[in-house]
Amino acid sequence: MKKFILITGASSGIGAAAARAFARRGENLILVARRGEMLEALKAEISAFAPQCEVALKICDLAAPQNVFALWNELKDYRLKALVNNAGFGDYGLAGEEDLQKLQRMISLNVTALTLLSHLFVRDYKREEATLVNISSAGGYSIVPRAVSYCASKFYVSALSEGLYHELAADENAKLRVKVLAPAATRTEFGARATGDANYDYDASFKRYHSAEQMAEFLLRLYDSEFCVGAVDRNSFEFTLEGPKFSFAGAKK
Ligand code: NAP
Repeated sequence: MKKFILITGASSGIGAAAARAFARRGENLILVARRGEMLEALKAEISAFAPQCEVALKICDLAAPQNVFALWNELKDYRLKALVNNAGFGDYGLAGEEDLQKLQRMISLNVTALTLLSHLFVRDYKREEATLVNISSAGGYSIVPRAVSYCASKFYVSALSEGLYHELAADENAKLRVKVLAPAATRTEFGARATGDANYDYDASFKRYHSAEQMAEFLLRLYDSEFCVGAVDRNSFEFTLEGPKFSFAGAKK
């Protein structure tokens, strides 16, 4: 039976670059986002350079939990080999000045949707050769000024992913691998969404940043490795593969 890699937030940025990178390897894909026309354009692009890849599109607003369950239900006829929980966005602003509705949507997407999809995947694929990759952030391991709530949401992603990694490592019958990618500044639509400035300029805002294509390459290096964490150092911009970074109260394997 054909197996698929499910990527959320595949209409732009890191998710779209990851879709292209997996397609170059001949993987079949299920791509999820809200903007159907961008998913259609990506599918056409992939069909041109990787005609053997099957690409299914799911237009879905993951910020609503009922849509997450409905999506999972729609996917029951597909067999997955990986889930990349990439959909997410940031919110930059001083404490007390954040747009609370945007904040609520951010938590719904970055935390709730990612948690539900991670647990549905673990429940259904725990005993299979499959991989869960959750996209956190350098801000999921250190707190960034003016992005406190976003960082907190990404600390959650890092902690959940490392926790699931430990839980599955302790289960002899579990074959599912859990990984977490922590990008630093990466040129995507992220900056414009986080600031609300459609003309957000990465060159003016950062001395260094990665491209979405570089980040997709890092994602594949993490995917191919035995490591749990793939992280970009926000000072050196080096990418390293590591074991879990948070302290763990359980027994060491
Ligand atoms: P991006 O270009 O804005 O991509 C975000 C993706 O998420 C888009 O495909 C977007 O598609 C999708 N998305 C947003 N809201 C959604 C919703 N409600 N339901 C379904 N899909 C939704 O930004 P990116 O940088 O590639 O972000 C990817 C991940 O990397 C995020 O988790 C982000 O936090 C993380 N990250 C980014 C950076 C960075 O500097 N860029 C650094 C660290 C971590 P639609 O709008 O079409 O729905």
